[in-house]
Amino acid sequence: MPWVTDVHPTTDELNACVQCGLCLPVCPTFRLTGRETASPRGRLQAMNAVHQGLVEVDQAFASILDFCLGCRACEPVCPSLVPYGRALEGARAEIVEQVPGRGNQRRWLLGAALGSRSLMSAATSVVSLFQRLGLTGLAPRRLRRLSSGIRTLTGRPPATVGHVGGSGDAGTVALLAGCIQDQWFRPVNHTAIDLLELAGHRVVVPDGQTCCGALAAHDGKTDEARRLAARNVDALDAADLVTATAAGCSAHLAGYGHWAEDGGDVASKTVDVTVAVARAIQVGRLPRLRGSRGPIAIQDPCHLRHGQRVVDEPRIVLQAAGYEVVEIDDVALCCGAAGIYTILQPEASERLGNQKADQVRSTGVRRVASANPGCEMQLRSHLEDEYVVRHPIEWYAIALEEESAG
Ligand code: SF4
Ligand code: SF4
Repeated sequence: MPWVTDVHPTTDELNACVQCGLCLPVCPTFRLTGRETASPRGRLQAMNAVHQGLVEVDQAFASILDFCLGCRACEPVCPSLVPYGRALEGARAEIVEQVPGRGNQRRWLLGAALGSRSLMSAATSVVSLFQRLGLTGLAPRRLRRLSSGIRTLTGRPPATVGHVGGSGDAGTVALLAGCIQDQWFRPVNHTAIDLLELAGHRVVVPDGQTCCGALAAHDGKTDEARRLAARNVDALDAADLVTATAAGCSAHLAGYGHWAEDGGDVASKTVDVTVAVARAIQVGRLPRLRGSRGPIAIQDPCHLRHGQRVVDEPRIVLQAAGYEVVEIDDVALCCGAAGIYTILQPEASERLGNQKADQVRSTGVRRVASANPGCEMQLRSHLEDEYVVRHPIEWYAIALEEESAG
C-alpha cells in the first residue's frame, strides 16, 4: 500500500467514480484550463493511480492536487455521490507526510497564522496600525490587494469570546467565533449574537474554543486538525445548537464526526448562522419586515452551498428583510478565495476573483450578500468602492434597525 496515513483515500471512495464527466462543467479549475488533470475526474484518477501503486506520492501528484480549490462544486452534481472533499483531504495528508519540503516555511507560516487565534490577533494589530497610519500602500502588491478586502479595523467592537447573554427560551446556542471572522469581520459575530438573543436563545461564546481546524484539514495537517477539533468539542458540546458566522467554519464543524472521536454530537448540532436565523424567522421568533428595500446580489460561498447544501436560507433571511434577491451565478462557481489558495495560486485566484466581480457588475446592483469572510475579502478586493458587501444576517439587521427607527 503506497499510502502511509490512516486518512488516505479509500478503495470505496475512489471506485465510486464512474468517470462520467458530469462534474467537469462545474469545476472552476477545469473551466479555466480545459485540462483533465485540473478536473475532479482527473484528480480522482491520479489518486487511484497512487492507490494501485502505479505512481508515487511525489511533487507531480502534489501539483495536481495543489491546483484544486477544494470548493466541492463537484460533489452535488455527482450521480455516484463521490465524497471528493474527503478524498482530497486524505490525499493532502499523504502529501504532507511523503513529499519532501511540504513543511516549507511559507506554507507552514500561512497555515499556522490563519488557523491561530492568537497569531491572527497579533497580525490584526499590525494591519490596524498600518491602516491608521495610512501605510498600507507600502505592502507588497498581493498583500495590499488582500488587505483591501478586510473591513476597516480601527474602532472595532469588543471581543465576543466569553460572551453569555439572552433568555434561553428557545434553547442555548454556542457560537464559534472563528479566527479571521472574529479579528477582521467582528461585527458579523456581534450581529449574530444580537439576532439570536432577540430570537429567544441564550448565546454563549465559550472561552475554551479555538480555530475550527478547517485550514489545517484542507492542507493535510491531520494531527493539528484533530487536536483543534477535540478542544472545540469540549468547549461547544453542552449547547443545544452550535453555529458559526463563517460558512467555512460551520462546514468544518458539521464534519467533526470525522475529526474528533466524540465529535458526532457537535457535528449533528451544527448549523450555519444563516440557517439558525432563517429558522427563527420561519417560526416567528424574528419578524418578517414590511417595507421593500430594493435589490441585493447574492453570492453563495462554496462551503455553504456545496459543502453544506445550504441554498434557500440566506435567501429567506434577505427576503424576510424586504430585499429583492438577485442571482449572480446559477452554478455558484468559486470566487477564488478558498483559504490560502489566494496566496499559493495567485494567478488562478485572480482570474476567478475578476470573473466573480464581473458577474456582480453585470447585475447592476451595488449591494452584495456573502456569508463567508474569505469570499467577502475576495469580492471587496475585486470590486470598486461603491459596492457594499455584507453578510446576509447583517443586511437583515440593517433593515430591522431601519424599520425600528420608523
Ligand atoms: S461526476 Fe462523479 S462519477 Fe462522474 S466523473 Fe465526476 S466524480 Fe466521477
Ligand atoms: S473541489 Fe472544486 S476545484 Fe477541486 S475538483 Fe472539485 S470542483 Fe474542481
